[in-house]
Amino acid sequence: MRQGLGKADLHLHTTASDGASTPADLVRLAGERHLNTISITDHDTIKGYLDAAGIANEVGVKLLPGVEVTTLHEKNEIHLLAYCFDEDHSELNNTLAGQRQARVNRMQQILDQLKKRSGFEFSLDEVISEAKSRNVGRPHLAQLMVKKKIVASFTEAFIRYLGRSVLDEIVPEFVQLEEMIRIVKRAGGAAILAHPGRLYDNKEIEAYIELGLDGLECIHPAHNFERQKELTKLAENRQLLITGGSDYHGTGKEYDPYFGILTLSEKHVNRLERLSQNRKRLKSEMKQ
Ligand code: AMP
Ligand code: FE
Ligand code: FE
Ligand code: ZN
Repeated sequence: MRQGLGKADLHLHTTASDGASTPADLVRLAGERHLNTISITDHDTIKGYLDAAGIANEVGVKLLPGVEVTTLHEKNEIHLLAYCFDEDHSELNNTLAGQRQARVNRMQQILDQLKKRSGFEFSLDEVISEAKSRNVGRPHLAQLMVKKKIVASFTEAFIRYLGRSVLDEIVPEFVQLEEMIRIVKRAGGAAILAHPGRLYDNKEIEAYIELGLDGLECIHPAHNFERQKELTKLAENRQLLITGGSDYHGTGKEYDPYFGILTLSEKHVNRLERLSQNRKRLKSEMKQ
């Protein structure tokens, strides 16, 4: 491991959800791009993280437990990042298992909507096979639409068919944001609002902070420099943790150029780890 305060990337996806790199390849690539600390934050699963632990040790990259949970707040889907939780925590794992099923049921609802709106006849099974053993999501359906030449590109699929307007018409069964924040804390982890500058205004962010967030993902490729500064100030004023990452999904995918470039200073990683350590210590003291 390199000495001193190095660079971190705490937002990465693998083939366990909608990323293109296997967990092992991603860790190797992180080493090549001189990252000291990373976190694999697949959508609603920690399988990629678990699979990468061995190789991270070999390569000398520090790997923090992580996951990006799709939560609900007043019908909106809010991405919550969780870090440094106890990976064997049964409540957390049961919740993620529920999320996996909720993703399948949500996909069926999206397919029903597409049929109603545009007459497309996709079966749930074909989308699930496109996703292979991964946690199914809209990107897998977008890929299938490209293969079937319904759209010319992945991005077009999102613009035309898979954006917010389709989500507004369905009722997913994801965990509530407030509940998930509590579960993450009970598992000794830290709960961070993902890419807040992408979707929400400051009033919404303040409301989510009131629900008990530990921090904000201030550094994200969807934030321009002004927004990043604003969010960092907000986090500092509210004494919240600051995190960040590239949201890398693989070569040629969304945010590809930022992996190894858009990074977080490890001083923020240290704060994150300290919070989690204190939380775990308090929990074990309460048990005694
Ligand atoms: P889901 O998990 O089904 O909500 O899908 C969310 C994922 O879809 C995000 O993490 C991105 O990887 C991808 N995504 C969302 N919006 C877009 C977009 N406009 N263009 C390309 N990919 C997108
Ligand atoms: Fe994604
Ligand atoms: Fe996200
Ligand atoms: Zn992400």
